[in-house]
Amino acid sequence: MNAPMNGAAALPASSAGRSPSLADMQGLRPAGMAAEEWALRLELAACYRLFDYLGWTEMIYNHITLRVPGGAADNPHYLINPFGLHYAFVTASNLVKIDARGAVVGHSDFPVNPAGFTIHSVIHAARADAHCIMHTHTTAGMAVACKQEGMRHDNFYTAMLHGQVAYHEFEGITTHLGEGPRLIASLGQRNVLVLRNHGLLVCGEDIPVTLQTMWTAQRGCEIQMAADSMAGANHPIDPKVFGVILEQRRPMQMQSRPGQVLFDGMLQRAGIRYPDLV
Ligand SMILES: [Zn+2]
Repeated sequence: MNAPMNGAAALPASSAGRSPSLADMQGLRPAGMAAEEWALRLELAACYRLFDYLGWTEMIYNHITLRVPGGAADNPHYLINPFGLHYAFVTASNLVKIDARGAVVGHSDFPVNPAGFTIHSVIHAARADAHCIMHTHTTAGMAVACKQEGMRHDNFYTAMLHGQVAYHEFEGITTHLGEGPRLIASLGQRNVLVLRNHGLLVCGEDIPVTLQTMWTAQRGCEIQMAADSMAGANHPIDPKVFGVILEQRRPMQMQSRPGQVLFDGMLQRAGIRYPDLV
């Protein structure tokens, strides 16, 4: 291996391109902003960039929302993407803080999409554990959402989601809160929601675990779409295997922040670094 041209010590291969940690980023925190909110803004901006890297975008539409400390108990605060900006341009600073009713908290140079936040707001309000909500219109997710039988648990990824997927009937573009109670009833305590004829929605305790669940659902839909395009019957999974998978995955889900290794590893692969997201 050749020495670096500038004589600087080479980074170990394992850390090359890795972003400074969120803790390292506190020195760049804007005056008056709480440390926790700054870290959450950076992590959420990185997640938007990762969605773009993965191709999980829909023009300027769709949202990833995250609960942040602040606000009243009955009117908490959330972060959402600025409306009109592609995910590729989301930064920690241009994320918009809104309350539970979708009103901007403080100042923002950008508007938000109130219609887009409607689904997120009712789920955030009803599920104390749903700090993070991700919604996509990917081709595979929408295609499966258009099928009568929905997500079929007969591939490696959808098998992991057996018993965790809920369904909600399409009522048109969700622009009013009247659909909220039916949406909440549809979701129940599950973390994956197939919005029929519409797309996928996933909720979770934080960004990494929600991303991990969305990736599992997305890949499952991609495989289902590919398998269904091929001649011949699909091979079912023995229902006993679902219980086996549940036991196999339990230790992974007991870790602190499951999905963190995946999230950090993919940020590195995509070249997404926190100093570029300020
Ligand atoms: Zn949608």
